[in-house]
Amino acid sequence: MPNILFAEMRQETASFNPFPTRYEMFRQLQGAELVSNYLGTKTEISGFMDVMADVEDVQLLPTMSAASVSGGAIPTTVLKRLIDEIVSSIETVASQNKVDAVYMCLHGAMAGETEDDPEGLLVEKVQAIVGDVPLVASIDLHAILTDRMLELIDVVVPFHTYPHVDQYETGQRAADCLLKLLEGGVSPEMVAVPLPLLVRGDELITETGKYGEAIRMCQEIEASASGLSAGVNIGNAFTDVPELRTNVLVVRDGNRDQAEDDARRIAQFMWTNRELFKAELISVSDSIEVARDNPGLTVFSDAADATASGASGDSNEILKALVASDFDGRCLVPLVDQPAVQQAVDEGEGAVVQLALGGSLDPGRFTPLELEVEVLRIYDGHFTYENGLAGFGGRVVIVRYRNIDILLVQRSLFFVGQDVFKSHGCDPADYRIVVVKSPNGFRPYYDSIASKICAVDVIGSTSANLQSLPYRKVARPVFPLDEVDLEL
Ligand SMILES: [Zn+2]
Repeated sequence: MPNILFAEMRQETASFNPFPTRYEMFRQLQGAELVSNYLGTKTEISGFMDVMADVEDVQLLPTMSAASVSGGAIPTTVLKRLIDEIVSSIETVASQNKVDAVYMCLHGAMAGETEDDPEGLLVEKVQAIVGDVPLVASIDLHAILTDRMLELIDVVVPFHTYPHVDQYETGQRAADCLLKLLEGGVSPEMVAVPLPLLVRGDELITETGKYGEAIRMCQEIEASASGLSAGVNIGNAFTDVPELRTNVLVVRDGNRDQAEDDARRIAQFMWTNRELFKAELISVSDSIEVARDNPGLTVFSDAADATASGASGDSNEILKALVASDFDGRCLVPLVDQPAVQQAVDEGEGAVVQLALGGSLDPGRFTPLELEVEVLRIYDGHFTYENGLAGFGGRVVIVRYRNIDILLVQRSLFFVGQDVFKSHGCDPADYRIVVVKSPNGFRPYYDSIASKICAVDVIGSTSANLQSLPYRKVARPVFPLDEVDLEL
């Protein structure tokens, strides 16, 4: 009976968000909790567990999961404590059971204040405990695939969709790979062709964009006889670490030459199309004009303050523009603002209160906006996202200024889908403008109700205008920050 140990560590770091990701921001699960929390969800771990449930004689050994919403770099002591805890949980389980294989569920774009490759470090420690057994890892396509990870992991299995809708299937693919390795007779040849390329923009949408064509080449490879895994990891452009880049990954059974040819062909395709992978942004005033001319819902994508990409979520740039404009349609704006929430909670529902909104986390970029607002509703902040996972925003308050409803939360949340709003009494369909803090991930949730989408050009720590960001560590030259001569 093979015993398969599994663990999870996930967070996506935005190095330009000055607010660090603290220890308390990591939701932790141990052992059986890890199983019960994920069963029935649309996640990698549930896909992995469901495949394994159908295989006779497999015993799963859950260890620990630590996961946080995206945020600033992780302080050195916090990262050490988290990794130590995961490692200790694995040590305990491995001391009581023979471990035949390992599945690591990683995001892949974490960065510590001093550690540039937390996932590689964790895998190194895990391997030191379990020894030379098959090790498969699933990763987000925004993962930064480091040389250390490539060396230590037998098969890396990346997402294939952007916006991400294939987490469950990725877990299934990882499970299938692990089962092949356990059966034996398979020797994975993993090849990654690095590209000095940072990408943004709509061509990344896999259903419609150029990037989708590259992913479909990867899927053909996976479907072929010797194909084990393939993907194009674009990295999170806001995780400023030396190995931030795009990697084309191909894993074939025993066929290194073929894997190299495949990876180079797809790398050439990405590089040839590099000019397409830039974001086209619209000024906030033009975006408001678009909404004025559109009788339906216009979604404003505030990608520069995308909490899903690791930004602080306290940008009031779009709010300021809406307040200053004479647009009188109903608007819905989310904001992370712990002090403003506290003040509104203290005053109570129905109160009219003067709040300084925004800029509480990233005051270098955003100055607070003084507004007299009405406190409409106060919530305990517990709700469920569309994927079935729990969200917790601390206290959550809805306040109203004129035609603008503002969802204020104490703790960072994903402002991507509709449920974060609906759970707090605001149905996006009732508004003319809804601001999401997400570059593209919101699209599957809004396609059916939004008639226009504006990628708004405002400042922020996750701006798609990459030249506006203070990169320090990424290896240069890198496109589009630099002109790059590349021979492939
Ligand atoms: Zn991602």
